[in-house]
Amino acid sequence: MRKFQSVSVLWAVLALCAVMSGCGLLHGASETGGEIKNLDGITVIVDAGHGDTDVGTIGVSTGRYEKEVNLEVSKKLQAALEARGVRVVMTRESDEPLGPADEQDIERRKEADMQKREEIIGGANAHLLISIHQNRFEDQAVRGPQVFYLRNASDGAEYGVQFSECLQTAINEDLQIEKPRNINYGNWRLLKKGDQPGAIVECGFFSNPEEEVLLQQGEYQDRLVAAIVRGTQDYVEAYGV
Ligand SMILES: [Zn+2]
Repeated sequence: MRKFQSVSVLWAVLALCAVMSGCGLLHGASETGGEIKNLDGITVIVDAGHGDTDVGTIGVSTGRYEKEVNLEVSKKLQAALEARGVRVVMTRESDEPLGPADEQDIERRKEADMQKREEIIGGANAHLLISIHQNRFEDQAVRGPQVFYLRNASDGAEYGVQFSECLQTAINEDLQIEKPRNINYGNWRLLKKGDQPGAIVECGFFSNPEEEVLLQQGEYQDRLVAAIVRGTQDYVEAYGV
C-alpha cells in the first residue's frame, strides 16, 4: 500500500510538471546541459541595437559605445545559432549606416535606419527575433541582464511573453546571476514588425562599473550567448514555432 501511494504521488507530480512545463519551470542546465540540440530549419532575426551615428548608451567605466558591444554579441549569437542549423537574418553586420550615408540630419538618418530594419524584419519570414542591447540606469548599483517583450501602448496587447521568459530563465540560471531580474515589457517599435515572437535582451547595465567591464569580456559574452541559445531551444521545445 505504501509503495502504491508513493507511485501515485510520483505520477501526480509528473502530471503536474507536464501541465506546467513552461520555461519558468524548466530546470536549466540539467535539462539540456552538455547536449547540443538542433534548431534545424528555423529562422531567427538577430538585431544588433543602434549603430552608425546612434552609439546607444556609453560605458561608465571605459567609455565604450553600446553599439559596438551589441554588434560583438550579435555576431557571436549569429555563429552559435548557425552552428545549430538556424537560418539567421542580421539587421546589420557592421557600423555602416543602413540608410543613405549622405543624410546629414541625425534624426532623419536614424529614422531611415529604423525603416530599413523594419523592412528586413518584415521580409525575413522568421520564427523568432532577438534584439541585443545594453542597459543603463541612473543608480549605478543596478545590474543584471533583463529581457523585454512587446506590450502595445495602444491596446495593451502582449507578444513574445513566453519567449522572453525562456530567455530570462536561461540567462539567470546559466550566468548564475546573483539578483535575478524578471522579464518586463515596453512599447518596442521593432518588435511590432513581422509575425514572429520577439525579445529585447538587455545584456546588462553599462551604467554599472563592474558589469560594463564584464560585458566586454569575450568569455562572458560567450556564456551569455550560450544561455540565449539554450533559452531559444527551451522555448522551441516547450511551445514550438
Ligand atoms: Zn540600446
